[in-house]
Amino acid sequence: MKDDRDFYIATEKEIKDGLVTDIYFERTRQVLEAYNLHKVVSAEFIVKGLPEGNDFGVFTGLKEVISLLKGKKVTLRALPEGTIFKTWMPVMEIVGDYLEFGVYETAMLGFICQSSGIATKSARCKKAAQGRPVISFGTRRMHPCIAPMIERSAYIGGCDGVSTIISSKFLGINPTGTMPHALILILGDTVEAAKAFDAVIPEEVPRIVLIDTFLDEKFEAIRVASALRDKLFGIRLDTPGSRRGDFRRLLDEVRWELNIRGFERVKIMVSGGIDEDKIKNLNEYCDGYGVGTAISSASTIDFSMDIVEVEGKFCAKRGKHSGRKDILRCNDCQRDFIVPLGTKKNCHCGGQTFSLLKVYIDNGEIIEKVPEENVIREYVLNQMEKIEI
Ligand SMILES: [Zn+2]
Repeated sequence: MKDDRDFYIATEKEIKDGLVTDIYFERTRQVLEAYNLHKVVSAEFIVKGLPEGNDFGVFTGLKEVISLLKGKKVTLRALPEGTIFKTWMPVMEIVGDYLEFGVYETAMLGFICQSSGIATKSARCKKAAQGRPVISFGTRRMHPCIAPMIERSAYIGGCDGVSTIISSKFLGINPTGTMPHALILILGDTVEAAKAFDAVIPEEVPRIVLIDTFLDEKFEAIRVASALRDKLFGIRLDTPGSRRGDFRRLLDEVRWELNIRGFERVKIMVSGGIDEDKIKNLNEYCDGYGVGTAISSASTIDFSMDIVEVEGKFCAKRGKHSGRKDILRCNDCQRDFIVPLGTKKNCHCGGQTFSLLKVYIDNGEIIEKVPEENVIREYVLNQMEKIEI
């Protein structure tokens, strides 16, 4: 029977009911049930290779996994959200009767693969910007039902703000935005649009005027700055491909013309096709970035879930290390060691190590809560200080 719905999305109930699962997991469940095989397994989530040649990722999506497994008779250990991880590190481990969680493999991977990919790209862009603000603008490129997930992951990764109203509600921050081309086109002139915006929008919203709609960016920037004067916080250029691609030259010219007229204070913000490489190239002239598709549709991190023990016995498929593991991180040099669970060791540098994996669910009961997003974001930014991109 075909289902007819307005939007092609799975509801929370359908995910919790195990409908977003690959059919072979459901068939496995049927076989195990038929033979009454209730085996306790340990399954871990690892990634063997990271996208785009990256050498680290930012782990996110745990909060949704906890919501899915809550009440199931399993124990969940995981890296705290926002932890920087490398290949082969178990980022999560579930121990319990396979029948309690096997059908959720598809959904659990979906939670962590996509959001970790977005958080990782966000962290790279924020690092590239060297302290300049980076705002997530790319929700429009993805299905609207996942806007909160995209922007939560982008914010955790290091973005300073998000653009949609709904996501900012989840994050407890105000949404960030400037003005669209639509406002300028309808009012017919950039300065008229800037004045109307200034007249209507509450004054706590910074006046950032889009200057690439009708005329050359340089002349529009001068017109807008002369009209709004002290009220103008910044200008935004959304067309990095203009002027035959020599965008640095254009920014240099705009900055010069503003400065020579006494508008050194006016910030220059850039959006449109921005990623970490473009950010590095434009930092000399830019005060902030709106990053779209590069973050919202970042490459996913292809974690897989693999069984490593069955009924307490070492058991793993070809190409996988069996047995439950721990990750020890050095307090001093931040080096990580993947060791059999229960192993204690100090780092080569002489530094003390601590265990990164924490128990979040103990036999169905949530015993550790995921912190607020602003706390996780600070954790990411602190770790990123020691990382080069
Ligand atoms: Zn060390």
